[in-house]
Amino acid sequence: MTASTASAERAPLPAGLDTAAAGAAMHALIGELYPICRSITGDGFRQTLARLKQEIPLEVHEVPSGTAVFDWTVPREWNIRDAYVKNSRGERVIDFRRHNLHVLNYSVPVHSRMSLAQLRPHLHTLPGHPDWIPYRTSYYREAWGFCLAHRDLEQLPEDEYEVRIDSTLQDGHLSYGEFLVKGASSQEVLVSCHACHPSLCNDNLSGLAVAAFLAKRLQGQPLHYSYRFLFIPGTIGSITWLSLNEERARNIAHGLVLTCLGDRGGFNYKKSRRGDAEIDVAVAHVLGHADRPFACVDFSPYGYDERQYCSPGFNLAVGCLMRSQHGQFPEYHTSADNLDFVDAAALGDSLAKILEVFEVLEHNRTYLNLNPKCEPQLGKRGLYAVTGGTNIKQRELAMLWVLNLSDGSASLLDVACRSGLPFAAVREAADLLLRHDLLAPVPQRGAIAVGRS
Ligand code: ZN
Repeated sequence: MTASTASAERAPLPAGLDTAAAGAAMHALIGELYPICRSITGDGFRQTLARLKQEIPLEVHEVPSGTAVFDWTVPREWNIRDAYVKNSRGERVIDFRRHNLHVLNYSVPVHSRMSLAQLRPHLHTLPGHPDWIPYRTSYYREAWGFCLAHRDLEQLPEDEYEVRIDSTLQDGHLSYGEFLVKGASSQEVLVSCHACHPSLCNDNLSGLAVAAFLAKRLQGQPLHYSYRFLFIPGTIGSITWLSLNEERARNIAHGLVLTCLGDRGGFNYKKSRRGDAEIDVAVAHVLGHADRPFACVDFSPYGYDERQYCSPGFNLAVGCLMRSQHGQFPEYHTSADNLDFVDAAALGDSLAKILEVFEVLEHNRTYLNLNPKCEPQLGKRGLYAVTGGTNIKQRELAMLWVLNLSDGSASLLDVACRSGLPFAAVREAADLLLRHDLLAPVPQRGAIAVGRS
């Protein structure tokens, strides 16, 4: 089988995608996951994985508390049943059952009576957005607390309050979900998302939904790369996975951390630590040919799990794709990051763009022009169209670019970037030139060439 037939047999990943239907289905999935109280460990996380398992056959891993993972330790498992602050009339003035953000995530159990003054240091609000409940956590320092709308705090009278957090923090497990879609190559594309936030939609349920639908879409397709999907608790999850899979991590050729993919804003792509990895170029190329402004930002050691994947001991080619960037939209980490804040059309668009990026990775190859001394005569091979048209002109231009740059050093993605042409046009031109024996594939990075030939 030649490279050209391999390429022709492979259906383009985004082709035929019903973006609107996929967006609506992802929004519905987010709606189902929204009420669950998740944390970095515990039954809320397991329940979330169980729901995702109805979409894709992911494997659930349980890592015991106390397991050493590099410089960290898998924490004790947190579970919560109920939490409230009751006034002296027995009315719940703060109620976990109404919104799970009301509890400081990872709160240790408490049951006590106290004055407002004693309670006050344990209450968190957002005076700048007085109707929103903030999201606060205390994973690695034992604490308890409640979060509430600032307006509600201002209305709390002096009283004797009953404070109860019915939680447990005990030895248990850290759970995570993993799913590998096998391609021809053992080289992998990593798709990682954190699944540890409670009722928050853009950060992080949008990432979960898009990752699950990507996996559904890739399953059963003839692929070059294998695609590894991780649904993990933020920070400790990626540290745990990397610690348990140090050897396997070497197979990761490209990767994306996915989050904040459901809001109506334009895309923000945070580059890998390498800055010029193939994934960085591929994402910038796809976003650059879309119809909306976007931004590419350089790597920084702050953000999501790319911090761990791009730590110097791994330095994986993993970037982070978002629409609005964490911390830079007011709804971030508040109750306003709800089902209205995420949009089915935006989710569908995010899914389509990532599939386009994968399409580039799947087909990016380097070729050698077999007729490098002056241009080959395309006309006598029937490669110049008799009639005109924009697409025909673009095809001819793409052939000239591919021929000119294919000296064995430039990949098709390089050709696309330098020519300003869309990757698909460059790939089609290369397929055509291959069929006319004007190009030969250059073997790439050992094992990869086997899977691709
Ligand atoms: Zn977050």
